[in-house]
Amino acid sequence: MKFVDEFRDPALARTLAERIAAECQPGRRYAFMEFCGGHTHAIARYGVTALLPPAIRMIHGPGCPVCVLPVGRIDQAIALARDHGAIVATYGDTMRVPASGGRSMLQARTQGADIRVVYSAADALALARAHPAREVVFFAIGFETTTPPTALVVKQAAAEGLRNFSVLCCHVLTPPAIAHILRPGSAGDGAAPIDGIVGPAHVSIVVGSAPYEAFARQQRMPVVISGFEPLDVMQSIHMLVRQVNSGRAEVENQFTRAVTRDGNLAAQRVVAEVLEPRERFEWRGLGELPHSALRLQPRWAAFDAEQRFALHYRPVADHRHCDCGAILRGQKQPADCRLFGTACTPEHPLGSCMVSSEGACAAHWRYGRHTGHPGDSGHTGHTGHAASAPLQGIAVRSSPAGQDA
Ligand code: SF4
Repeated sequence: MKFVDEFRDPALARTLAERIAAECQPGRRYAFMEFCGGHTHAIARYGVTALLPPAIRMIHGPGCPVCVLPVGRIDQAIALARDHGAIVATYGDTMRVPASGGRSMLQARTQGADIRVVYSAADALALARAHPAREVVFFAIGFETTTPPTALVVKQAAAEGLRNFSVLCCHVLTPPAIAHILRPGSAGDGAAPIDGIVGPAHVSIVVGSAPYEAFARQQRMPVVISGFEPLDVMQSIHMLVRQVNSGRAEVENQFTRAVTRDGNLAAQRVVAEVLEPRERFEWRGLGELPHSALRLQPRWAAFDAEQRFALHYRPVADHRHCDCGAILRGQKQPADCRLFGTACTPEHPLGSCMVSSEGACAAHWRYGRHTGHPGDSGHTGHTGHAASAPLQGIAVRSSPAGQDA
């Protein structure tokens, strides 16, 4: 297939759905986690869950970069602008993530903090060039996909002798998070047992498929790296069902048009030149995970905002009624939260999962709440959804405006 429409073809989707259903063994349940928020969004947007047989249950993972950003890191970014007078440059979704005291970066900006939205790390560097008399801090978030540009701008700032640029580095790492989720008991009581992982697409373009091999082997966990289009996801689910049925626990690559075993070596090299693993890092919903995030290496300390401004990290609890933590651990679904759609909406998010389009609550709000398919963003899959609206998902909801899976 060459064109994107072919990856959204309803007839092909139905054929794949029939194959998946035919592969499911009678009486057997299959629980698969889509780690990545991009997959959560695609599953909800195209109604993939409605095409799956009731035996298959999709569980959200914590692979939404905005969702896992803890309150304490947002507080640090606000403090940089408010208390240190810095221009803080950040990606747009981060602006509305709740910080402590019911604030957000957006609200801090209305109160005078100089916080600006950028579309790239290079934009943040351009701000530093344009304002040589001001400190400019890039609030760098995201998984391995957005990490290489952060490393590049640090090198570029050094090469240009920019003394007013630094990075608040909150990049997180995918394989340690998946390994943590798979560790027995790590997700707490009520966490669903997982039979397989739909592996990240964009992250895997950078890191390759090899980093998943260790836990696939050690924890006997099938992994299929998947593209973001609905047929990609369905084919990956089909591959996972086949692995489970045959007792295999391998890393398979459905997204061969973009992912190799070794990944993007040039991107990995530039990251390795500038960044290093932190001993620990707090993830919203998952707590502190060892070696799960990156910071600047000591030789780039002049560009490290945490050192430059002597920042100390203070963990802060989420809103006491917000279930984001349980959702990110796979224990609950968006509709289980008592605030969903009442106090918490995309216009007024009380938790991080309602902010980004990759967040489970936002995806469920946008695509799942009117369909009668709670699982459009991660339901249990055992409650008769297919009978009420068979095979309609991709055909009906193929082109909502402004969304990109
Ligand atoms: S609905 Fe809002 S408050 Fe509830 S879990 Fe989702 S983001 Fe958190």
